[in-house]
This record gives sequence, C-alpha cells and structure tokens, in this order.
Amino acid sequence: MTVPARTLLQRLVAAPGRADRVTHVEHVAARPGRTTTWPVWVPQLLVDRLALAGVPAPWEHQAVAADLAWGGTCVVVSTGTASGKSLAYLLPVLSSLLLDDRATALYLAPTKALATDQLRAVRALQLASVRAATYDGDTPREERDWVRRHANLLLTNPDMLHRGVLPRHADFASYLRGLRYVVVDECHSYRGVFGSHVAQVLRRLRRVCARYGADPVFVLASATSAEPATSASRLTGMDVFAVSEDASPRGTTEFALWEPPLVPGRRGEQGAPVRRSATAETGDLLADLVVEGARTLAFVRSRRGAESVALAARRAVAEAAPELGSRVAAYRAGYLPEERRELERRLQSGDLLGVAATNALELGVDVAGLDAVVLTGWPGTVASVWQQAGRAGRAGQGALAVFVARDDPLDTYLVHHPQALFGRPVEATVLDPANPYVLGPHLCCAASELPLVEADLPLFGDPSEQGQAAVRLLLAELVRRGLLRARPAGWFWTSRERPDADLRGGGGPPVRLVEVKTGRLLGTVDASSSHSQAHTGAVYLHQGETYVVDRLDVDEAVALVRRDEPDFSTSARDITDIRVVEELRGTAFDGVRLALAVVDVTHQVVSFLRTRLGSGEVLGEEPLDLPARQLRTRAVLWTVSERVLERSGLAAADVPGAAHAAEHAAIGLLPLFATCDRWDIGGVSTALHEDTGACTVFVYDGHPGGAGFAERGYERGPSWLRATRDAIAACECAAGCPSCVQSPKCGNGNEPLDKDGAVRLLDAVLDSGLGG
Ligand SMILES: [Zn+2]
Ligand SMILES: [Zn+2]
Repeated sequence: MTVPARTLLQRLVAAPGRADRVTHVEHVAARPGRTTTWPVWVPQLLVDRLALAGVPAPWEHQAVAADLAWGGTCVVVSTGTASGKSLAYLLPVLSSLLLDDRATALYLAPTKALATDQLRAVRALQLASVRAATYDGDTPREERDWVRRHANLLLTNPDMLHRGVLPRHADFASYLRGLRYVVVDECHSYRGVFGSHVAQVLRRLRRVCARYGADPVFVLASATSAEPATSASRLTGMDVFAVSEDASPRGTTEFALWEPPLVPGRRGEQGAPVRRSATAETGDLLADLVVEGARTLAFVRSRRGAESVALAARRAVAEAAPELGSRVAAYRAGYLPEERRELERRLQSGDLLGVAATNALELGVDVAGLDAVVLTGWPGTVASVWQQAGRAGRAGQGALAVFVARDDPLDTYLVHHPQALFGRPVEATVLDPANPYVLGPHLCCAASELPLVEADLPLFGDPSEQGQAAVRLLLAELVRRGLLRARPAGWFWTSRERPDADLRGGGGPPVRLVEVKTGRLLGTVDASSSHSQAHTGAVYLHQGETYVVDRLDVDEAVALVRRDEPDFSTSARDITDIRVVEELRGTAFDGVRLALAVVDVTHQVVSFLRTRLGSGEVLGEEPLDLPARQLRTRAVLWTVSERVLERSGLAAADVPGAAHAAEHAAIGLLPLFATCDRWDIGGVSTALHEDTGACTVFVYDGHPGGAGFAERGYERGPSWLRATRDAIAACECAAGCPSCVQSPKCGNGNEPLDKDGAVRLLDAVLDSGLGG
C-alpha cells in the first residue's frame, strides 16, 4: 500500500476548510507482546496440539489467568480485542478434561454463532478425550440424548441453560456432578435487564450443581471495561479476580477525533444550528482515503447510512480518479455468508478499496489489517470503538482510525475530551440481579428445580440485611399470588406447569415486530420503550434496517412494520410525571443533594414529530392515542436549593430551561459510565418538585425495578455531572443544539432549554462540594 498513517491523516486535513475539524490525534504506540512458559500442570499433549495450531507459547495474561483458575480462583480476563482471551480459559478447561475422565465443563456464549466457532476451535485440536458438543435450540432431538450422556464439554447459551438444562437437571446428573469449570465468554454483553436475568440463571446453576456435589470455578472473558471484577462478581454472585494487563502485541495506530462543522445558515428544531452530518463527512473521508489507495472500512449506524456513504464516496472518487470508482461498496446484513466472505476477500486483497458497513456487522466482519477505519459516531460502548478501530492495523506503517462525531452530547464530549476514550476506561458493565421484577420469576424457576430453603436466600437476593428482608417480602407475595407454597421445609412450586422467566423482558411481554408483507417475525422491542419507539407511524431502525410502523397494537403487543426508507426520522412526544416513593441512599452537600430513590413514573406518549434527515427541518406533528404507562423503577436525582440557585445567578424564569438542558445532557453522557443506551433511561426535570421541595433533576432506569444504570449514575455522580457540564460548555453553538442539550427523545419538543443556564446550574452543583 501507500503512505504512512500519519501522512494519510495530514492529507485528509490538508483539504480546504478541514484543519479545524480534527480536535485530537492520539498516537497509540506499538506494544511488543510478552510471552511466558506453559504452566507446569498443562499436559504435554495439549502443549503439542497448541503448537501445531500455531501457538508456541502463551501471552503472560493468558498464563496468569489460567493459573488462577487452575488453583480454584474465579477469574475474569478483561483485555483488548484479539488478545487471545480464549486460551486463558481453554488451558484449565481442556487440561482438566484430559487429566480426569469424570470432569466436565460448560461454555456459555451470548450467541449460537460464537458457540459454534468455539466448538470448531476445540475440535481442531483433535483431543480424543475431549467430547465437545453444542447444545442449543438447533441441536436435533436424537443428538441431545447423546450429548447429555457423553459430552464432557457443553457449549451453549444462557437461554438454553435456563430453559433446556436447569429444569431437567436430573437428566444431566452425571454431567453436573463432574462440573469443574463454567466459562462465561463475552460477559460484558450481559448488561441491564438481560444481564440481571443471566445473573439469576447462573445462581440457579450454582445451586443445582451444589446438589450434585459440584462447585465449579467460573472463568469469564470480557472486553476492556472499568471495574471488571465488580461486574463479574455481580454476574456470578462470587468473588472474582480480574486479570486486565494485556500482554499481546499491537501495532501503532494514529487515532484522530473529528468534528464536522456547523453548516452556515441551516436551522433545525427551535432554530438551533445544524452540524454537517457525520455520514456526509464520512462519505468524503472514505473517498479521499480510497483515492490515496488506502483499504478503508467505514462503520455507519444504519444500512441506509452505509449505502449513502458508499454512494457519495463512489461519486466523489469517480470525479477525482475515475479508474477507482468501482472499487467502493456497501456491505450489509442481508448478504449471504458466501457474499460476505467474497466482499471480505476483495477488501483484504485491495481489489476493493472502500467499504461502508453497518455497526450491526461489527462482530460479523472478518477482516483485519486494513489501512484505515472510519467510525461514524459512537457505536454504543468503548469496547465497540476498539473492536471497530481494531480492524485497521498494518505492520510497519501504522494504521489510521478516524472517529467522526455525530451531533449528540456524548460524541461532542468525546471529541473534546480524548482522555475519556484513550485514558483508563470509565464505562462499567451494569446489572442489578436483585431487581424484584427479575428475581421473582427466577425464585419460581429455582423452586421448581429444587425446593427453596432458607439457606438459598442470600444466593439469590442481595445478602445485606435490607436485601434479605426484600427477598422475604417477595416470597410472601409469590405465596399470596398462589405461585409458591410455603411449607416447613421451604418454598415449593406445586403447579404442573413450568414457571417461566423471559430473559429479555421486564415490564410486560415484549412487542413483536412483524413484517406486514411476509408475516415474518423480525424481532422484539421492550415493552417499556415500545410506545416511544414503535408507535404507529414511527420510523424504526432494526439491526441497521429501516422500517416504518404501520400499526402498533398495544393489546396484542404487536407492531406491524414494513421496509421503507423515508427521508425523515420520527421522535415521540410525551407527558411524564414522577413521584418519589422511597430514598435508598443520599448524600447532602451545601444546598445540593444527590440521591438514589425508588420512583413511580407515569409516562404517556401523546404525539410524534417528523424531522427531515440531513437538514433537521421539522415536517410536522401527529397526535397518538396511547394509554399511560406506569413504571416503578429507580432514579438518581439531584436537588438544588433556592439559595444555591440565587448564588449561581440564575433568574427564577431561567431555572426550568437550565434544569431541562442539564437533564438532557446528563442522559446523553450516562452511557459513558454505564453500558446503557440513551433509550434505556429517561429523565424529568422541574424547577420545584413537590416531593423534594426543590429544583430537581431525575434520571431514571426505563425498566421496571431498574437495571442498575441509575445506581451507577449515583455512584459516579461527581464525574458524570462534571462530564455533563464539560460536554455542554465544549459545544460551540450559541444557544443549544443536538450536540449539547437538545435531545432526539425529548418528550417536550426541546422546550424550554437554556444552555448557558445549564452550565451555571451544574457549576453551582459541582461547587457545592459534590464535585470534590
Ligand atoms: Zn450545542
Ligand atoms: Zn426534554
């Protein structure tokens, strides 16, 4: 290929008017790998087979983690993409299976595809005494018997463990008796409500194992995150040791942060200035890189976006270098595996120079070693940023990664605060297994597997005194509803039917997305966000594809959708009311209080807006007739006293706009600290709340009982609010725009919003002593 990454970047910046767009360039230095010797307990046969497979020696972190697991310590390996986390668990797992013919192990992956990949990798080692098999919904019935009786390494997923293994544990008796290791791969994907459910499934597994005399060691693999040991402990309910020093080698990368310019004269909602769209900017960058001969992959949020990036790039390339125009393509989820492999091969070889793909394909794309990667906006987590950027990496000349900010507060914050991306990670995988809406169904499942006894309660509930009282209350409620029966020996499930818990649900059955034309079930939307995201007339993005909702049937929990690509997006308007039920924790500062509370939220979606794509122009508003939804959940809140408001110089009339703007930006920034999506959380702000008697901003979990996001906001309150303040202050707009305080999900049409007031309000809050 062409030129060094640094030169490539210089050429991108050299185009007229572009110099100001790069806000930061991080030189990610190369790191040599550090290998070590095989632990002495690894059988020679395994050492030989690994050598044949191209692994002459382990990286240090692999050996350290494997050694801990072998010694009986639960461990989480939290290192970068492609750092060989699988060897860390395969060493103890395969060694135990080779050395003890009664030993067994369990491997859990979030997807069937990943379990299949692992099976292939294990089988390639050709170890006759390792009888590995996948066990999931696709396993034929006749094969299942064989697997149950003979396999000593089961590869499955949490859903199958929950529905297919635990309820019939007696059939797995000999397998469970021998269980030495439980591997939880990609454990950072178990977050929020789903993560809380999986945490309860793992507790049920531990209890059933104990019944058969087994006490397996857990080995977890996670993307890089803050506090991996804490998250892993929450997930398993055990003490977990973290190994997070990555000893695998890496090439150099020039990582540029890029902010598209404001477009002069263009106005969006409430007359706000509009930034050039990240997709348009990406189209230009992709074209320039292709003209330089750089093999480039651009990640875009939607398929429509990916296609418009590819189209724009192709046009621009055709003008600058006609012979290269045909070497740019879009890559999408609908492709058959063969088509994908073909596209990947052409990109790898340089036959194709530029490809635009959707974020949904981030894990599915099998290419590495490219010259450049362009990331169009925040893909959801820091782990995803590195996963995407990791597709670039050349020996010698270094690779180029460009992060192009979209117009929202989190992206704005990142391009102005590179430390958040390149420093120590602050984002933690958040879950809350003690949520009663999650715990209740699993107590029923557990009781149907084996009667529940007193001694089990600290396993399932929070072991604190308060937590145990909550579990008892919940059990009493389940008994009252006739689901469980209390007897002297414990709590029993007496119904002939199996209890069920929907691992992905919380708050009613999820709404099914059904394609009108084909009757095909595309997927589901959480009941809690269905009214605001899948209402009649909504434009809905599902796995990178755009659909329009023809009709939302609330009673049947079905949204009928069709594929369409309108030139507008939609956003719901709502009326939200919040009441404080109970304060759980709180800290008082000088005139400011930060608290975590149980709240009742009443939420009614009343209409929606259509906004033209690209220009941001509002096309119109349509009323909706949807019932109000009640939600009991958790919120982080902060109150500001009259005195502090006065001291900040905010006039009474400015307070509502200041608090509202601060609320929006705070919601936008929380995903940096907790693995949540903007849509997982909601907010309410008011100049005077009747329950607190003060100006109050609430940010609440959008799922019944809470998913741990508000709690994380409470714990990281000072850093979170500081980042919120800085994100607003960093935006160059005059009076507020989508990059700082406007929100696409504002129920109130982004009114009133006071950008300067928000900075002043947050300064006052941080100065109260809360900011440290
Ligand atoms: Zn702004
Ligand atoms: Zn709002």
